[in-house]
Amino acid sequence: MPKQLLFIPGPVTVAEPVLAATGQPMIDHRGPEFKALLAQLSQRMKPVFGTTRAEVLVLGASGTGGLEAAVTSVFGPGDRLLACPIGVFGERLIAIARTWGCAVDVVETTWGHALGPAALRARLDAATGDERYTGVLLTHNETSTGTQNDMAAVAAALRGHDAYTIVDSVSGLGASEFRMDEWGFDVVVTASQKVLAAPPGLAIVAVAPRVWERMDANPAPRFYFDLRKARDFAALGQTPWTPPVSIVFGFDAALDAYEREGAQSVYDRHERYARAIRACAAALGLEVYSSEGAHSLTVVAIRLPNGVDGDAVRRTLREQRGVVIGGGQGRLKGELIRIGTMGDLTQTDVLGALGALEIALLEHGHQLSVGTGVQAALKVFLAAEEPAAV
Ligand code: PMP
Repeated sequence: MPKQLLFIPGPVTVAEPVLAATGQPMIDHRGPEFKALLAQLSQRMKPVFGTTRAEVLVLGASGTGGLEAAVTSVFGPGDRLLACPIGVFGERLIAIARTWGCAVDVVETTWGHALGPAALRARLDAATGDERYTGVLLTHNETSTGTQNDMAAVAAALRGHDAYTIVDSVSGLGASEFRMDEWGFDVVVTASQKVLAAPPGLAIVAVAPRVWERMDANPAPRFYFDLRKARDFAALGQTPWTPPVSIVFGFDAALDAYEREGAQSVYDRHERYARAIRACAAALGLEVYSSEGAHSLTVVAIRLPNGVDGDAVRRTLREQRGVVIGGGQGRLKGELIRIGTMGDLTQTDVLGALGALEIALLEHGHQLSVGTGVQAALKVFLAAEEPAAV
């Protein structure tokens, strides 16, 4: 395969040492080495979730598996949930809950915008008696629209309500500070192939202490994704079912890299890459899909002008330039391109991809002044490197 620069918002480019770690010899998944590895992973993920109290469980599954595990463990028929989708993945969470028999109401948000905390609060306050919601479904970072919610503000809106909260942070966790304990979220789900930059295959689920009693009281059927089983086996240093051992090795190496870089530097890197890509879009006369104040740190969604087909631009980029970016999903198909900031990518990679994007856009009829997009991105990078004034 020719060399590719992978700029989709997951799975992301995985660094060589992480890939190498996945090639280690197989070990007994019920033996002492795996036990030590699993316990450490769980412990090391706690600061990433911002928790000292929650149990962090590692599941052999993609992010969707983690979300299904959360929903089926906590909720079932008889539960009334309030969902707050801001894009395709929020809608998927609703589909999971409905599939498992929950009644789901929806707080509607215009795509490209963040959830309005006041709208959420109003819906919770208005539902009294039998109408009361037992759960709230939330998205931290919506990958389909490049939009991020202000989770501190969402947490403030939930204060005083005791509904159980499930947060999809599959494409958000690790790219900014998350404070699960302080914000009071009950179950937070992420996955290995996003900010943490390991291969796909693991869902990592943090469960707050009060949720275990609720899970015992939940009569809904569940088996493979019963988080209580995951908890009981984690206490033995195991997973209930055979885990993807190679991916666990890779995830361990990816966490080494995360810790070596330092959380704050990781946050800054994502913020800077996202800002550079948005600056490029603006300089090229393209509209960033997310609204001001709601920009995602991990993916930039860019709306293409009428007459420029996003999927055709992506094909040209992939086939002629070796740059792979995301497209619009669901009702946004063809309208958007999405450029991820996650993974083992350098500033030079970002500049190269944006240069290739300029060429592809020109080829597809978008008028632009060559080099202005790359220059705008370069300025963001250079400004970040200037020494602080003394
Ligand atoms: N939620 C969000 C916000 C995501 O970005 C994704 C993956 N793109 C998922 C859920 C689903 O994760 P997976 O594809 O790993 O099942």
